[in-house]
Amino acid sequence: MAEPVGSATIDLDALVANLATLRSSTGATIAAIVKANAYGHGLVPVSRALVEAGADYLGVAQLTEARELRRHLPGIPIFTWLYAPGADLVGGIGAGLEISVGAPWAVDEILVAARHAGTVAPIHIEVDTGMARGGFSPEALPDAARTLAAAQADGAVDIVGLWSHLARADEPASGETGRQLERFHEAHEVLRRAGIQPRIRHLANTAGVLWHPQTHLDMVRPGIGLYGVSPEPGVATAAELGLRPVMTLSSTVVAVREAAPGTGVSYGHTERTQRSMMLGTVPLGYADGIPRSASSRGPVSVGGVRTRIIGRVCMDQVVIELPVGTGPGDEVIFFGAGGPTADEWAAAAGTIGYEMTTRIGRHIPRRYPPGTVGS
Ligand SMILES: *Cc1c(COP(=O)(O)O)cnc(C)c1O
Repeated sequence: MAEPVGSATIDLDALVANLATLRSSTGATIAAIVKANAYGHGLVPVSRALVEAGADYLGVAQLTEARELRRHLPGIPIFTWLYAPGADLVGGIGAGLEISVGAPWAVDEILVAARHAGTVAPIHIEVDTGMARGGFSPEALPDAARTLAAAQADGAVDIVGLWSHLARADEPASGETGRQLERFHEAHEVLRRAGIQPRIRHLANTAGVLWHPQTHLDMVRPGIGLYGVSPEPGVATAAELGLRPVMTLSSTVVAVREAAPGTGVSYGHTERTQRSMMLGTVPLGYADGIPRSASSRGPVSVGGVRTRIIGRVCMDQVVIELPVGTGPGDEVIFFGAGGPTADEWAAAAGTIGYEMTTRIGRHIPRRYPPGTVGS
């Protein structure tokens, strides 16, 4: 096979260090969130490293990811919360997954599935406390609680948890997080009156772990911080939080040319060189996950020197200004260790750090260098 033109190096030691850093902020049980292919870092190697490092739980959005995870990691509790009507809940229960229930139709389907599976279904009840995305509304909760309490008494379900999700935890000054916590406690009271005592109450994402200790409850669900990216660099950068980048996205200079001042570069000549410079062509583009919106802005590092994309991002390539003394075959770091941060890229592209690591194409090989955890 031809050498790929770019790769994402995954530093599992940094991942484990970030887990320890987040753990030092909380006494709660930790559910490491590994949805979306572990935010682009590779579901199985990342999950395995987190479990070996002592993560108590794993969380993934989708049932299919959860089942893949279960095949590789038989022992660890896995929490999963996103599925559509008609999903294979029998298979999920059979795989020992802890499935969220947050809508009336989901109550019906989990009860049918538990009967078919012939085992107790461990579930977590989701309540909407202010995200308006998932979970029972305060109006729908009492009915659901009555039905689920009866199902628990019948041995169909085991109500393990009560959970919700924070909408504005990355704004430490917002009063919304406190209001969400109040609504969470009210929901807990509704369950208590229905005779349900969930063992694990969980609410906090990374921003909650870092900036809202009152939301930690019994378990926290950090995602982005594990990967060394800040939930909100405007509040604190990853470096300020003591978090190390886990993914380093890099490629190689494949062509160079000298450009006279005024040379139009890439499609549309949206940028013309202001002075004479060396241009380098690098074979990563928007098909690989480099946002086209970072045209003429996206920062890169070559030979330890910071430079940037000149002109438009193409489908498979970009053109950069080459620092003096660099040329074909030299490594180009887009983001990660030794280069710009994913958050700097996000700022250049008008998005968030989360999207930068997650959007890197699955065809870009993830490398897990020896010397790191699990190798
Ligand atoms: C993504 C997600 C998390 C983790 O959020 P971060 O901001 O990445 O820490 C936690 N819980 C749920 C339900 C999520 O969807």
